Amino acid sequence: MKKSIVVIEDESDILEVLKYNLEREGYRVRTCRDGESGLRLVREENPDLVLLDLMLPSLDGIEICRRLREDPVTRSLPVIMLTAKGEESDVVLGLGVGADDYVTKPFSTGELTARIRAVLRRTELSEIGQEQERVERDGLVIDVGRHLVTVDGERASLTATELRLLHFLATHPGRVFTRDLLLGRAIGEHAFVGDRNIDVHIRSIRKKLGDHRDLLETIRGVGYRFREEES
Ligand code: CA
Repeated sequence: MKKSIVVIEDESDILEVLKYNLEREGYRVRTCRDGESGLRLVREENPDLVLLDLMLPSLDGIEICRRLREDPVTRSLPVIMLTAKGEESDVVLGLGVGADDYVTKPFSTGELTARIRAVLRRTELSEIGQEQERVERDGLVIDVGRHLVTVDGERASLTATELRLLHFLATHPGRVFTRDLLLGRAIGEHAFVGDRNIDVHIRSIRKKLGDHRDLLETIRGVGYRFREEES
């Protein structure tokens, strides 16, 4: 069955191009040009994914995303935000209210469809319930069950907080997290006051990962992500 995508975007040129290209990629596409009716369309259509522009008439993308996340039916519906250059602070807000990814305009169709496929794949994986205890990637093994990280076969001594943070990022490869989200979701109630600086933890983890430090990517102005495996 065709996967369906709802696109909410007020610029008709962009909307037309998106619809044309996504349909050519084999998706079923419904479109909308303002926030209120966009939200209604999403609830009617219950799509597999939403492409959501940030600046929209009547209801902006951040607010739409927040409302989708509040509703149990649409809580885990994948959302990709479309943002203009220089809207990094909005990106942070968007990821903070639970958007799965974002794409900066202008973007190529290839770039966008790659992101869409990645987000859909991640959703399928997490639906299978893969919060796996053990992650293996290149020469890196993270095993939270055994409290163990090895780098090319050598044991790396991470603190409990570092282990939690690295494991959380590594089980969501390709997904960008803001510092606040990492604090809340990766460290959460385990955080001591002195534990609250994510940048310090990331720096320390990178040092311990040696040649594999690049697996932890800094997304400037936004946060961090674990590099996605090339497919
Ligand atoms: Ca807009």
